[in-house]
Amino acid sequence: MRLLEYQAMKFFQDYSIPVPRQFLLGNPEDVGQVPLSFPVVLKAQVPVGGRGKAGGVKLVKDPGELREKAREIFQMQIKGVPVRKVLAVEAQEILQEFYLSFLLDRKNLLLFLASPAGGVEIEEVASRNPELIFRRKIDPFLGFSPFLGKIAGKFLGLKGDLLNQFALVATNLFRLLREKEMQLVEINPLALTPGGLMALDGKLIFDDNARFRHPEMPPDESLTPLEEEAREAGVAYVEMDGEVAVIGCGAGLVLASLDLVHHLGARPANFLDLGGGASSQMVKKGLEIVLRNPRVKSIFMNIFAGITRCDEIARGIVEFSPPIPISVRMTGTNEEEGIEILKQAGYQAFSSMEEAAEQAVKVMEGGI
Ligand code: GDP
Ligand code: MN
Repeated sequence: MRLLEYQAMKFFQDYSIPVPRQFLLGNPEDVGQVPLSFPVVLKAQVPVGGRGKAGGVKLVKDPGELREKAREIFQMQIKGVPVRKVLAVEAQEILQEFYLSFLLDRKNLLLFLASPAGGVEIEEVASRNPELIFRRKIDPFLGFSPFLGKIAGKFLGLKGDLLNQFALVATNLFRLLREKEMQLVEINPLALTPGGLMALDGKLIFDDNARFRHPEMPPDESLTPLEEEAREAGVAYVEMDGEVAVIGCGAGLVLASLDLVHHLGARPANFLDLGGGASSQMVKKGLEIVLRNPRVKSIFMNIFAGITRCDEIARGIVEFSPPIPISVRMTGTNEEEGIEILKQAGYQAFSSMEEAAEQAVKVMEGGI
């Protein structure tokens, strides 16, 4: 999960990383109670980069302008994401912008990156001026040493007390990555202001697999209510904008099923992976979730059974008895029993994936 900037800022505060005074606007009416001194920077809270360039970061100098610009930002969509919250922060005088991050990396395990070319996306610096990036592999068992922070600080051109400040920010940021099990912790820009170094933007990516160890982690605001519910039920579900609900066991199989639906000229309504060995209970939960999406007109279920049992899946379908057409492909463990149960109950069942998908698309074209 990628945290929103305001959520990242809270973690920075918990880890003693300096941030500007700020106030979160949950809707345009909150502008009346902003307890900050002007000028203020208004920032769209969306989990995408490049908000500045897209017009989602605006400097305002008085309450009138704040009201006007906040309303504008609340009406924006940035890279397709609607703005639901706006963060107001006290504007800082920026003398220089730096980049600082730690990330998990398949090749290097843990990587430490710093650059004096902050404020622009690091990928851009990497392609144009790779020599401006300080890169070091971090041994996960030894951890990060403040001494390495000072070496990086020198690379950034810092001296004296600022060098210590930088090493401290880097040490705290690394601690945040380890203790909160983040995949990426990034400050860009880490700004040099007349008062010292300050994090003016934060990007944190939390490893969702570690969620059970972190009740303090906020919910993922980019999930739809249905996706949130599916996650709690232990079902991998992603909402899409088509009409054919797709359910399968195994993520790769579900992806192939989505492609097949597309190939047949229809559009999938969702991705739903029941996982291996799903019970009839799980099947019912999966059907219930996909049907809560009002756009769904037919269901394509693709079961390639290894540890999964076709008869168990078929029982789930029959007990749930979906109110719209369902077309099932079943092959593997207890295939005959499964297909028999479905046919007895009057459902369409196939052992070929193409045939089952064609049927799911056909009933929809028939206007059912
Ligand atoms: P991003 O475009 O999504 O990365 O959003 P940022 O929060 O990084 O903001 C983009 C840019 O706006 C920063 O790189 C800064 O140059 C500028 N900016 C943000 N906050 C301030 C501020 O308090 N003062 C000044 N002068 N510029 C700011
Ligand atoms: Mn930024």
